[in-house]
Amino acid sequence: MQDWQQILAASFRDASALLEYLDIDARHALPDDHPALTFPVLVPVTLANQMQRGDINDPLLRQVLPIHSEGELPDMPGFSLDPLGEQDTNVCKGIIHKYHGRVLLLTATTCAINCRYCFRRHFDYKDNRLSRKQRLEALSYIAADNSISEVILSGGDPLMLSDETIAELVSGIEKISHVRRIRIHSRLPVVIPQRLTQKLQDILSQSNCQTSLVLHTNHGNELTPEHKERLLNLRNSGVTLLNQSVLLKGVNDDLSILTELSEKLFTMGVLPYYLHLADKVIGAHHFVVSDTEAAALYLQVRERLPGYLVPQLVREIPGEPYKQPYPVMA
Ligand code: SF4
Repeated sequence: MQDWQQILAASFRDASALLEYLDIDARHALPDDHPALTFPVLVPVTLANQMQRGDINDPLLRQVLPIHSEGELPDMPGFSLDPLGEQDTNVCKGIIHKYHGRVLLLTATTCAINCRYCFRRHFDYKDNRLSRKQRLEALSYIAADNSISEVILSGGDPLMLSDETIAELVSGIEKISHVRRIRIHSRLPVVIPQRLTQKLQDILSQSNCQTSLVLHTNHGNELTPEHKERLLNLRNSGVTLLNQSVLLKGVNDDLSILTELSEKLFTMGVLPYYLHLADKVIGAHHFVVSDTEAAALYLQVRERLPGYLVPQLVREIPGEPYKQPYPVMA
């Protein structure tokens, strides 16, 4: 069986090849010199295998394919390169400190998939690529601020790091006495479930800190029996599993899709945590669901599911001290 790094290496990096694999007319692909492709196509085969062949509107394909007819425009009123104002909270190399008590440690500068709606699609990762020495300096920043009780490994995707590097990082964080929790935000295990290795499970379950993994799943079709087996093992080893989704037009802005996603996640030991309103990042306007539509849909989800399966609908507003619940609470 291939390991996750071999699967990653064989990913699609070209829309025409992906479309051909899916029996879809390759003329739907943008020309190679289109400006949108500075954020290139990247799709693991494991995710492509979950897409419906012949369907240009497949909800998984829609998340990764730059398309001609809509979106990927260079500029739109109200959209920006840095919709969350993160460059201002990038307090030192590799650290984003925007909320009280917790920091984001940008551990990896790449992902296993390039999601077209990503709010960090224009983030200056090159400038935040950490050498081993810089990683230690970032840990010193955390050690010097005893209000920080939680470190969130983010990216890019932190699980792009090898298990050895993650073990080293976790061990460095554990030595800071005021840090009690380590959280990993990752989409990688969703698109390549083989990333949930036994070694990673051991690192997280044996940590002195409480550990949690926040997955990023947008649609139930992304999840397979392979995910179920690996996620349940991880959950049973003591790691808290949560999920965040982004509400995306043409992907999951539908009652049955959202309720099925929550129910499927729960069978895999994962609790729905956040449903984000899409951020207004340049190139992604075609994914934005209007506030009115989002509110109406969310009320239906609340009526359909028990409370513990309803993710919190939130939006991030630069400068606010926490993610803002979208005000639809009747
Ligand atoms: S995996 Fe996450 S960080 Fe990476 S492109 Fe997708 S949404 Fe952005």
